[in-house]
Amino acid sequence: MANLLLSALVVFLLLGGPLTLYAVIVILNNVWGGLKVKFLKTPENPLSLLVSWDNESYEIKVTRIKLDFIELVPGGRALSHSFTFEDSSAKNKSFVLALKLPEDEIKILTDAGLSTHPRALKQSTISVEVETLNGETRRFKIPKAKFIKSLSDTIEIDSETEIVTDKNPDSWSVQTRVFPWKKVEEEVEAPKAGAAKATGGAPAPRAPVDFAVTKVWIEPGCIVCDACEAEAPLVFWVKEDTCIVRENAPLDDAAAIKAAAEGCPVDVIKFTKVPKAAATSPA
Ligand code: SF4
Repeated sequence: MANLLLSALVVFLLLGGPLTLYAVIVILNNVWGGLKVKFLKTPENPLSLLVSWDNESYEIKVTRIKLDFIELVPGGRALSHSFTFEDSSAKNKSFVLALKLPEDEIKILTDAGLSTHPRALKQSTISVEVETLNGETRRFKIPKAKFIKSLSDTIEIDSETEIVTDKNPDSWSVQTRVFPWKKVEEEVEAPKAGAAKATGGAPAPRAPVDFAVTKVWIEPGCIVCDACEAEAPLVFWVKEDTCIVRENAPLDDAAAIKAAAEGCPVDVIKFTKVPKAAATSPA
């Protein structure tokens, strides 16, 4: 027994010890001196980004900042921009980058989300990627609600911090789009289905289908966008963090289930089907 414990200790010191020490160093480095990003609002610029680190303990040169925004609800908005510094002008100390984005994009980033989707704000994320000259990339994901709240924080800017106000977004990186692209037209119809649910009325008519649904399930990855419940409220139940198929859900409205599956922006609704004749023929 003693030998076993001794062997375990040796293995820990040989493998676990250095790894644990490394993990502690990485954590400490991140807390004090590691790379951080923070959005801020100044009287001169509606949106800037502070990229900071301790350049004495952390010798990096930043060559690119990439900003992505995505609103994960049907018809939600998204945008992506990058700001590249040539190698010779790579940033080797903390800096504030004025984000020179068009006014309508600043609005997309700072508004309360699509008014047609109550969860739009909750389902939106802003991510910032910081690329360094040696090819390392660090990614920060910030929920939109937290991002908006942080804009009212007071931030002390170190006098050593460089203020960059003359950098335009890379022209080749500009992509503003609507997510998901394929469903934009159908989503125009979505409020009708939701209204039908709210009033208890009949859903909008759908094209008949020639099959019966035998089983419905939801795979992991639901983004709680509510679309399926608006399509087929008797079948789908969107809860706080996922959607479920209701217990004993009636599967007789195959067209509604098909529409819900096709409208799911992340394709997690699955169902099995049989030809209608097979479903109705005697056993
Ligand atoms: S299952 Fe799909 S359609 Fe339903 S809430 Fe989740 S993501 Fe939205």
